[in-house]
Amino acid sequence: MEKKTAYIALGSNLAVPALQIKTAIEHIKKIAQTILINTSPFYENPPMGPQDQDDFVNAVVEIKTTLDVKSLLHALQAIEEKMGRIRIKRWGPRIIDLDLLLYENLVFQDFELTLPHPGVFDRIFFLQPLHDLTPDLCLPDGRHIVNLFKPALTAISNKIHG
Ligand code: AMP
Repeated sequence: MEKKTAYIALGSNLAVPALQIKTAIEHIKKIAQTILINTSPFYENPPMGPQDQDDFVNAVVEIKTTLDVKSLLHALQAIEEKMGRIRIKRWGPRIIDLDLLLYENLVFQDFELTLPHPGVFDRIFFLQPLHDLTPDLCLPDGRHIVNLFKPALTAISNKIHG
């Protein structure tokens, strides 16, 4: 099967977030039929939703894979499970959150998967690292990342390393 490019967002705001992001990236490297192409810098961002929780650390990785999209999603969910993700409340604190942002130019929606991830159009913590990785990225609807990223820049996003 042909290699597909996909982008995965990582987020964490419990324990030592940057360490969990690094651990999750090590797990992603071990997904079958998949290679890691590039890792964005890590960013610190205020939480979305409930504010009574710590800031998040966020990053995005670019991969190439011959897995079909559902197998990739399930591999990411297995990593979340393995790392002991605690799902207490929506938009609440979490050890690790893995979101599939883009899988080639696939536009798809069912009970367990929406692609592109809806947050890719306006969430600074997705847009900033995506833009770092691929400044000329074009989304399936033809919009360029740069045109989505600039308006979102008013939000706070602090680069911490990378
Ligand atoms: P969350 O708690 O925000 O991580 O949402 C997890 C749920 O979102 C899971 O049940 C997934 O099946 C679903 N989901 C839908 N689209 C996506 C996507 N693009 N990436 C990751 N999870 C997704």
